[in-house]
Amino acid sequence: MGAETASNHVTFLYASQTGNAETISHQLYATSVQHGHPSSCHSLDSYPAASLPTLHRAVFVVSTTGDGDPPDNALKFWRTLRKTLKNKEKPLGNLRYALLGLGDTNYSNFCNTAVRLDAMLEEAGATAFYPKGLADDATGLEDVVEPWIEGLWDALAKEVAGSSAEREVEETKPDAVDTADKAGTADKAGTADTADVDGAAAAVEALSIAPAHQRLVVDYSALAQLQKLSGAPKPPASICAITPLDTPAAAANSSSATLPPWHASLASSEHPDAFTRPFVARLGSAVRLTESAAAKRTLLLTIHPPPPPADADADADTARSSCRAGDAINIYAPNSAALVAALLRRLDCAKGDQPVRLSALDERITLPPHLQRFSSSTASAHYSLRQILLWAVDLTLAPRKQTLRALADCCTDAADRDRLLFLCSRQGAAQFDAVRRQAANIVDVLGAFPSCHVTAARLLDLLPPLQPRAYSVCNAAGDERWQVAFNVAEYALEIADPFAAAEEGMVVVRRRGVCTPWLEELAGQGSAAEVLVARRAGQFHLREREARPVVMVGPGTGVAPFVGFLEQRALEMQQAGGTPLGSAWLFFGCRSPTLDYLFHDRISSWLQQGVLSRLSLCFSRDTEARTSMGADVYVQDAVRRYAEELGRLMVEEEAVVFVCGDAKGMGPDVNLALADVLCQYAAAHTDARQRLGVVREGGGEALSRAEALEVLMCWAAEKRYLRDLWA
Ligand code: NAP
Repeated sequence: MGAETASNHVTFLYASQTGNAETISHQLYATSVQHGHPSSCHSLDSYPAASLPTLHRAVFVVSTTGDGDPPDNALKFWRTLRKTLKNKEKPLGNLRYALLGLGDTNYSNFCNTAVRLDAMLEEAGATAFYPKGLADDATGLEDVVEPWIEGLWDALAKEVAGSSAEREVEETKPDAVDTADKAGTADKAGTADTADVDGAAAAVEALSIAPAHQRLVVDYSALAQLQKLSGAPKPPASICAITPLDTPAAAANSSSATLPPWHASLASSEHPDAFTRPFVARLGSAVRLTESAAAKRTLLLTIHPPPPPADADADADTARSSCRAGDAINIYAPNSAALVAALLRRLDCAKGDQPVRLSALDERITLPPHLQRFSSSTASAHYSLRQILLWAVDLTLAPRKQTLRALADCCTDAADRDRLLFLCSRQGAAQFDAVRRQAANIVDVLGAFPSCHVTAARLLDLLPPLQPRAYSVCNAAGDERWQVAFNVAEYALEIADPFAAAEEGMVVVRRRGVCTPWLEELAGQGSAAEVLVARRAGQFHLREREARPVVMVGPGTGVAPFVGFLEQRALEMQQAGGTPLGSAWLFFGCRSPTLDYLFHDRISSWLQQGVLSRLSLCFSRDTEARTSMGADVYVQDAVRRYAEELGRLMVEEEAVVFVCGDAKGMGPDVNLALADVLCQYAAAHTDARQRLGVVREGGGEALSRAEALEVLMCWAAEKRYLRDLWA
């Protein structure tokens, strides 16, 4: 850390859940080094927060996940910073910082991590040297990210003394692209910065539509009328180099195909917290929870963590064996083998299994962690390009504008180049949106631009890290096996086809998620495959022997943690000789009781035994069942219907309310419904306002929705209202 305390050093710190913030932060760091600023880059958790007081200059890029929570790789930092703030007055008085937040206004608490971090830094005495940027994925992150980055270099140049900085500011002026200037840049075609794995300038093979690849449906007709394009981002810095090696396949290459090849050399320093350290577990059976006619295929998968070794230290022991109800686990899955094969074909790489050396083009730059794992200088640990593409980068996420901009520079055909520039320009916003809505992966994009000769190394610069996928467990603590329930992410999208005749104007594109189809396939092979898993630290827990009333709202797979809660309560009831605990009320919703009522038998049996005191069911697509069973459409309808009883539990009996499931629609909808419950209860019961602690000058009993929402937020802070919301 020593060099980081130098007054001209810039430290880039990121908190990233899906890899976007990490990619942006690393690109900024690499550009900063190229601008001549001594720089370093860390995830927030890998940076010792205790060293922050010695830093002079930091650039934070942080995203927000779930219900406005910090990403997993920022949790430890967050706790330490809070403690530091408690113990010391203005501990970060030396620090000057810039802050970029990534969020999505479709979810509640937009950019909450960035907003809270900004407030905490300010409280700690740090000073912002550049206005913070809050980017919205709902309208396109680039709209804020790109201008923010452009301005950052200027601000940083002023911050850091030295003439080199001045010079670089000139180089990063926003670009306007002249569509008439078509020929000039095509020759760059990925030659300047990277070596292709085959070492040859690729003659791109005729595009064969692989099963993993889908046609892109985009209407470019507006491009013909445009003279100039503006607002296109700068292509990201080139970081990676790939050199083919003649050495035989490394030992790591022969390891299990279901484990990331680097797992055996995973350093405990990378995961100092024993609770979240990855380890190898064995897959058990998968049981289908939905009927074959249901819209979604939901599986209940059993995972067997290994028994702790005899000499394991106590921490590791606890971490491996225990998983509390409400916890989630991360599963490390590779990209689909078919998608990787299609990409290798598209890159014209016939030797995808040949070992390569992955390194940084500029020796002053450290590769980001997801690539560093594949960049060992030890010959015994060289990996093939196929392994790198399987495990290092996410091939399924829709490409960012910066990626399209960089791909434009690799096109030999002016028409391809122009279309790519159009897609990442202000004028092509609607077309870019169409690409995103089609959830196009990188192979789809390359398929649409046959003259794009991007190299494998350049792609590694551009693609985000492949992150493990998280799933809630649905078992109670002490269970030696873990169970997770998930929908297999395979879906079809209907896209309007601008080229089709009016009567057949829609095309269907099929998409596949990374992890769930893979898990389904492995479980189907029945060979007890090994997978790398890690526990996720969380707070969505039911207290032991909770005496307060418990309200649980969880439609679809959102019910998973509540199955664990009810298991826990069944055990506790048994231990108490059958005496029921406080009341427990579950709101569950699905489409139809005959198709996708998950855990039906267990829920019915818990209701009978008194483990569950009340059950409210909602069937969104089965009118007959709704009528015959007196059910509602959505869980928020049921919450509103039972406003009086729920209001009494929440206001008079201090019920603890849990909500789990979709962060975009259900979470905010249920939040509003709960606020309405409080308003309705306050309107019907004098003194309810006082009991809620809402005092207003001028009196009056009514509670406004805004006040009710504030009450809910207070309860969330007191952990009386807990939400586990998934994007
Ligand atoms: P789902 O099957 O899509 O939907 C379950 C029910 O919720 C359906 O009846 C659906 O109705 C309804 N619904 C749709 N929009 C709603 C809204 N705005 N408010 C209330 N209900 C609504 O559910 P799912 O796919 O399992 O999704 C649950 C969510 O929980 C997902 O986002 C999932 O990622 C997340 N989750 C995941 C895990 C995990 O371990 N991976 C754990 C917990 C939760 P219609 O579709 O008929 O309108």
